[in-house]
Amino acid sequence: MPVIKEIKLDFTFSGEKNFIYPTLIRYKNELILVDAGYQNMLSNLEKAFRENGESFSDLTRIWITHHDHDHIGSLHAIREKYPHIKVYAGAGEVPFIEGRETPLRLKQAVELQARLSEEKQNEGIIFQKYLKSVEADKVDFLLYDDMLLLDGNAKVISTPGHTKGHVSFYFPKEQTLIAGDALVIENSKLEIPFPQFSENPEKAEESVRKLAQYSIGRILCYHSGTKEGNPSDIKREILDAVSQNK
Ligand SMILES: [Zn+2]
Repeated sequence: MPVIKEIKLDFTFSGEKNFIYPTLIRYKNELILVDAGYQNMLSNLEKAFRENGESFSDLTRIWITHHDHDHIGSLHAIREKYPHIKVYAGAGEVPFIEGRETPLRLKQAVELQARLSEEKQNEGIIFQKYLKSVEADKVDFLLYDDMLLLDGNAKVISTPGHTKGHVSFYFPKEQTLIAGDALVIENSKLEIPFPQFSENPEKAEESVRKLAQYSIGRILCYHSGTKEGNPSDIKREILDAVSQNK
């Protein structure tokens, strides 16, 4: 049976302490990390592994939910130090991760720049530079909707909307969902995150409706941690997240 653990990494943004919650999965000889943090987070990740009784050098795979800088920021640095690790991602995300297409956030930042006030111009340029500093890396294996992983103990659910090829991971026996950025917990309620940044807001809603079909007792959200509860309550909350996203 896979052991699924939330790991918590802190970072400072605009002087404020913030957190992200990548997932660690231990299954037989496989040690898997879901999403690879912001840029320069390798040492934070290594430390978090040690705190969870694991060694980063035992990591065998990285599963990427989508190509945003906060999910692949340290991917290249990780693979430079640990070249044996294999990277998995949804087919729609590959050109962005591999640096052949301009990342969605960078496109949005470039478009926004023209509308920024004079005093915000510099900030906008710094942010673009920051997004451009994400180093590309190669994806070894493609993930598809309904694909089974770990001897059928995990299933890929394609959840496009936030980005084109966003994927989530469902563990039927554990009734556990790794949602990535398909859902976020705000004031202890599930919500669709950052609708203003969604590549396709309608698709994001459709994806969340699809997630509500699964029996979920534990949901891991990358930006807000874990929520546990009765599957019927969680299902209702997921459907509420869609109806309140208007
Ligand atoms: Zn994110």
